[in-house]
Amino acid sequence: MPQPDTAFLSVQNLVKRFGSHTALSDVSLDIRAGELVCLLGPSGCGKTTLLRAIAGLERQDSGTIVLSGRDISHAEPQERDYGILFQSYALFPNLTVAQNVAYGLSGKRAHRKHVANRVEEMLTLVGLAGASEKYPGQLSGGQQQRVALARALAPSPSLLLLDEPMSALDARVREHLRIELRALQKRLSITTLMVTHDQEEAMVMADRIAVMNGGIIEQYGTPRELYRQPGSAFIADFVGEANWLPFERIDTHRARVGRQELGVDAPLGTQAGKLFVRPEAVRVSMTRPEEPNSMLADVLDGVFLGRGYRLALRLEGVPGSTVHSIVSPEIGDALLGPHAAGRCWVELPRHAIRTYA
Ligand code: ATP
Repeated sequence: MPQPDTAFLSVQNLVKRFGSHTALSDVSLDIRAGELVCLLGPSGCGKTTLLRAIAGLERQDSGTIVLSGRDISHAEPQERDYGILFQSYALFPNLTVAQNVAYGLSGKRAHRKHVANRVEEMLTLVGLAGASEKYPGQLSGGQQQRVALARALAPSPSLLLLDEPMSALDARVREHLRIELRALQKRLSITTLMVTHDQEEAMVMADRIAVMNGGIIEQYGTPRELYRQPGSAFIADFVGEANWLPFERIDTHRARVGRQELGVDAPLGTQAGKLFVRPEAVRVSMTRPEEPNSMLADVLDGVFLGRGYRLALRLEGVPGSTVHSIVSPEIGDALLGPHAAGRCWVELPRHAIRTYA
């Protein structure tokens, strides 16, 4: 059995070019046994190429891929021991659900009885025990994707590869399936790599997320690490919501933003750049707070979220600024209701501020 703290899948220095275009530029990635890792990034950043290279569907120009201690860099796809699920369900329309799932076992020369048992087991696992004699056309999109998952899992692969498995489904089904898929993955403890461009999906499902940008992995960490300690402005923007304000450095722990002076805990490395703070870290109050990083602001706009409001604010002394904040229903009502004050105090807590060049 692989140790939980060592890499079960290890990708080292992978390079893949398509003509003059470098889709993967020296990508390395370690995944531990039982982990679910998401490859997240904008369109064209190389996510699918990386997944396909691991699957052996795309040949890398250089680099190695090791799965469970075995170098599979040059192995044929069918020799690599993974199950794969794509965006489209890719089921055979003329075969029943059970026959579709059994298809995943056909290469294994399994005994008929064993196949039938395994198919039932897999369909129960994905919550489709009663559907074995139906045809794919009689199932909803979400159900079809579950059949495809059952088919991928039937041969007990040691690795599960998922390429945007839920992006063809509508929002409600997708949200439901996310939770189901994650629960199933944990229950089976199957090492999983999933491509997605949906940051919420990655946050909800992943143990760790590798954020890709232009053929490289820009940051690899837990959802919390990426959200709280984004290593670059790109990550800060791509994972979660961000407020940005241009600043100039006064000294190590003081920045000028418009006519305002702000204290920051993290030392300022550059003369000027972008200051970043998450909307939920921006504090809004009706009376002047004690803290020095506070300033008056005008309310530009507000959206009712139920649990509170999302406000757009313009900081006094920072012309053209728009800062978003998530506030309680009480403060939102006071600022947006019929007798709205329209102005408030905003604090940008110094510990919550990060800066980038
Ligand atoms: P998306 O979310 O849009 O699927 P992605 O991050 O998965 O994007 P890839 O599909 O890996 O991106 O593509 C990475 C880059 O390589 C893109 O610029 C793409 O145009 C290019 N590319 C991918 N496959 C090929 C191919 N077979 N031939 C030529 N270029 C390719």
